[in-house]
Amino acid sequence: MSSDREGLIVYINGEFVPWDQARVHVFSPLAKYGAGVFEGIRGYWSERRGKMLVFRLREHMERLELSQRIMRFEEVVPAGEMAATTLELVRRNRFRTSVHIRPTVYVDGDGGSAARGPVGTFVTAVPRGTPDRVRDGCTAQVSSWERIGDRSMPPRAKATANYNNARFAGIQAGIDGYDAAIMLNGRGKVAEGQGMCLFLVRDGVAVTPSITSDILESITRDTVLTLLRDMGIATSERDVDRSEFFLASEAFFCGTGWEITPINAVDGAPVGAGRPGEVTRRVQKAYFDLVHGVSGDRPEWISEV
Ligand code: PMP
Repeated sequence: MSSDREGLIVYINGEFVPWDQARVHVFSPLAKYGAGVFEGIRGYWSERRGKMLVFRLREHMERLELSQRIMRFEEVVPAGEMAATTLELVRRNRFRTSVHIRPTVYVDGDGGSAARGPVGTFVTAVPRGTPDRVRDGCTAQVSSWERIGDRSMPPRAKATANYNNARFAGIQAGIDGYDAAIMLNGRGKVAEGQGMCLFLVRDGVAVTPSITSDILESITRDTVLTLLRDMGIATSERDVDRSEFFLASEAFFCGTGWEITPINAVDGAPVGAGRPGEVTRRVQKAYFDLVHGVSGDRPEWISEV
């Protein structure tokens, strides 16, 4: 088996192996039921420093611990251990370009759907840059698929199986000609995108659904709230209604993968002027200056490799 990932090194269960040798058994609860939890982390290559800057590694690994507890794995792989392994993986791959890192903790062995162990781990890192939609903005559809809820599939666990929910919404948005989906929760309130959180700006206040809106407790959302407060822009975490997109002057998605992506239109109706707004642009600049190590702010959020 050859792949365009050839040459990359993967960490799996105590070993660093070539890409094509990183295997999980077909009968594992991971393969059968999606019994895994994971993280998506970005490393930004700094040409100036000649280093990879891994953003908020500690917070991601702490969330990975939280996901394992919610999923009731028989042991919790400590954040510090996964962080050290991840930094070593980045080091061994000798990247000279920005990357997306994906640590996973999963149920290995051959158990059934209630198996809680044995617990396995793997980490991948692959090159990934910032897509054009971050500059240009995107269009979104309010999905007819409901966001999973805490009574069925806890949304605050970053669990592999949860992403079938995102899959339905993402596929339908694509078929219908939109770039992204916005999902409502079981109470009919806005939750998030299909793999990212969101903000809208109303009367100068940056509003985002609260952490009890069936969202993933996004680390980028937390970063954005911090940046907005630093800029003196008022923020509000509350229930958000779908119709507020028609009243908002701006809206944007946020997440490790989606970074800060302006939302130009929802369901074909322009948000504000229908192009990236001023608050969005300011947040983008602050965010990219931060993650690229240009601003030098919050050094505790950056792990240099
Ligand atoms: N919601 C979902 C469902 C996600 O998969 C992600 C990406 N991890 C986010 C929100 C954004 O979270 P973060 O900012 O921590 O990447």
